[in-house]
Amino acid sequence: MTEEIISIKNVWVYYGKIPVLEDVTLTIKQNDFLGVIGPNGGGKTTLLKVILGLIRPDQGEVKVFGKDPREGRRLIGYIPQYTRFDPNFPINVFDVVLMGRYRQIFKGYTQKDREITLDALETVGMDEFKDRQIGKLSGGEIQRVFMARALVREPKLLLLDEPTASIDPEMQKHFYELLADLKNRMAIVLVTHDISVVSTYIDEIACLNRRLFYHGKTEGGLGMLEDIYRCPVEMIAHGTPHRVLKTH
Ligand code: ADP
Repeated sequence: MTEEIISIKNVWVYYGKIPVLEDVTLTIKQNDFLGVIGPNGGGKTTLLKVILGLIRPDQGEVKVFGKDPREGRRLIGYIPQYTRFDPNFPINVFDVVLMGRYRQIFKGYTQKDREITLDALETVGMDEFKDRQIGKLSGGEIQRVFMARALVREPKLLLLDEPTASIDPEMQKHFYELLADLKNRMAIVLVTHDISVVSTYIDEIACLNRRLFYHGKTEGGLGMLEDIYRCPVEMIAHGTPHRVLKTH
């Protein structure tokens, strides 16, 4: 039996008087690997914030693992876009990941926390770097460390917001292969611009341009997303945008 882990029903979100999400209905089940595409400003990050319980919809219903998102989100691992940080900050890879376990302050970490941290570093292939200072890693390596940090919470859903925006194509491929492996253990929702790369990994696609224009398999080819569903598709080859279709 497939378990419904996210249920979004007729959700509307406004910033002031401007609607950003209009009547969005979407369900995510166990072991789904969903790609969310759409133009800039289409509401993709807002949708992730709704799932994380950071934004309450003005209308509609959201359930995360059958609960209010603020309760359900402890089962979610969130990987933001690559963020800048002070490269001289004196913290090593192991500690960055360990801190993802969210112990109460002053309580300290247990041996189990340390074992889970090491496991997560092995999963993402970064165990050899565990003592390295975080500032001395490449963009792709840092992204893997953030992934490990999300994994130590033992999530049932991974949310990724354009995770490979700043890493080179070779590292991106490794990153998506890692996601394809993780798919057996958890559901994955990936916000992305580069649909041509992820289409080989994802099972389903959702096109968001304030409204959800399409949600389903990509069997009809990516062209149909633009033609039938007015969903803009940005194709990127060799790192250079060569086909940017007009937005809705
Ligand atoms: P995407 O992730 O698809 O680029 P966002 O969800 O970030 O889209 O943004 C959707 C729209 O909402 C954009 O027009 C953006 O400018 C606007 N927006 C996002 N956050 C806020 C906010 N806190 N206050 C007002 N407008 C916002």
